[in-house]
Amino acid sequence: MSEGYHQKRDIAARQYQKLLESQQPVRLKKVVSNLFRERRGKAALFDVSSFDGVISIDATKLVADVEGMATYRTVVDATLAHGLLPAVVPELATITVGGAVSGGGIEASSFRYGLVHETVLAMDVLLPNGEVVTATPNNQYQDLFYGMANSFGTLGYILKLTIKLIPAKRFVHLTYHQFDNMNDLLAKIESVAKTGKHQGRNVDFMDGVGFGAHQLYVCLGRFVDTAPYIGNYRYNRRYYRSILRRNEDYLTARDFIWRWDSDWFWCSKNFYMDRLLLRLLFGKFMLRSESYWRLLRLNQRWHIAEKLRWLSGQHQPMEDVIQDVQVPIEQAAAFWNYFTKHIPIQPVWFCPTRSARANQHPLYELQPDQTYINFGFWDQVEARPDDPHYHNKQIEKQVSKLDGKKGLYSQAFYSQTEFWRLYNGPAYKKLKAKYDPKKRLKDLYQKCVEQS
Ligand SMILES: Cc1cc2nc3c(=O)[nH]c(=O)nc-3n(C[C@H](O)[C@H](O)[C@H](O)COP(=O)(O)OP(=O)(O)OC[C@H]3O[C@@H](n4cnc5c(N)ncnc54)[C@H](O)[C@@H]3O)c2cc1C
Repeated sequence: MSEGYHQKRDIAARQYQKLLESQQPVRLKKVVSNLFRERRGKAALFDVSSFDGVISIDATKLVADVEGMATYRTVVDATLAHGLLPAVVPELATITVGGAVSGGGIEASSFRYGLVHETVLAMDVLLPNGEVVTATPNNQYQDLFYGMANSFGTLGYILKLTIKLIPAKRFVHLTYHQFDNMNDLLAKIESVAKTGKHQGRNVDFMDGVGFGAHQLYVCLGRFVDTAPYIGNYRYNRRYYRSILRRNEDYLTARDFIWRWDSDWFWCSKNFYMDRLLLRLLFGKFMLRSESYWRLLRLNQRWHIAEKLRWLSGQHQPMEDVIQDVQVPIEQAAAFWNYFTKHIPIQPVWFCPTRSARANQHPLYELQPDQTYINFGFWDQVEARPDDPHYHNKQIEKQVSKLDGKKGLYSQAFYSQTEFWRLYNGPAYKKLKAKYDPKKRLKDLYQKCVEQS
């Protein structure tokens, strides 16, 4: 358990004051991140890496106090030791709790508990003026408490959070359900999302994968105490491929939570880590999301992949299409039709969500009693010579047309007007004016679109 939170908090506040006095723009210093846009412009780095621990776990009240930069790997290890898990765990191990709240984290239990920020009960925020406040749903910082979701570090930095836990069991029993058309898959998802059950049994986790326009899977998970066998996808076997081969599987609760991490969903194939020999040789160091992220950063700096492609005779420039978009379930088939016709990327991840606090988080507005489907796609396509960002812009247009919203952890190309229409400009401007009147931190548009 992490000790000395109050001491660290006071030291961090003093360090931050010094940075403010230097008049430079400030940015969080992160060793590993899950942000997929290059940052332009220089900024003084604010180091809060020591806020990386679990402070306490209350197994009776089912809550934990954790520090803002604690990774889910740390939090899951600590809570599983008590037979508990955070209600929603973004299933890449290096995502931090503060990052998931300010970046709209979701996962396979989001159809039950909502998004990560909807499972937070209180948080300490270092405001842009250097003051640290505790924001809760009922105190004077209520607007900040709800406003932090999707604020991407533009309203302040989360140093500590109280989060909701759920009881876990030793294993998760997974079943895979194949569909050849999207409407049938969506009907299955909606019925489980609304009832929480499949064939009369409780479902604890639900997500899915599209391997092709008509090769679709829903993956359902249920906590169980015993398992007839235990699957393992940490090393030579790839979890995502197992969905194509099996009807069911049993994983330990820990392996279930990190089932996507070893192959970064399936992005490991872009690093040739789907080859058995490379897995055997380098698997121990490579098969984890932070290794891929580090390689990606190196690549962004040195353009290694581009040079290799050029040397092998492929001279066509590529466009990164790394996005998560969320659309109401009624529009999901239309999005899938559009996507499979126009964007040559497979597989695609499906994650259903239902809001636990609809209409309360102004920067992430969701309707009550509404299921949404999050589509995650992370790859490259051949760029069009007339516009290097053509496909991303088309996706943005399509998502807006279908009343959806895209996550802002990657690149975005909206105009100011369109952006503030989609991301509740009036509410954001009110929060910014109250909590950062001197504009010490960048605003959401500068950060997420201009990448400054
Ligand atoms: C292949 C891929 C798969 C993904 N899968 C998932 C998934 O399964 N589930 C999911 O939820 N997300 C997923 N994401 C999205 C990503 O995890 C989110 O963007 C998340 O916000 C990253 O959190 P982080 O802790 O790494 O923070 P970072 O990426 O470092 O930062 C994200 C933003 O939050 C701000 N921030 C970070 N920490 C704090 C803090 N303590 N206080 C205030 N602001 C802060 C930063 O300034 C930055 O603007 C995926 C992305 C990709 C590319």
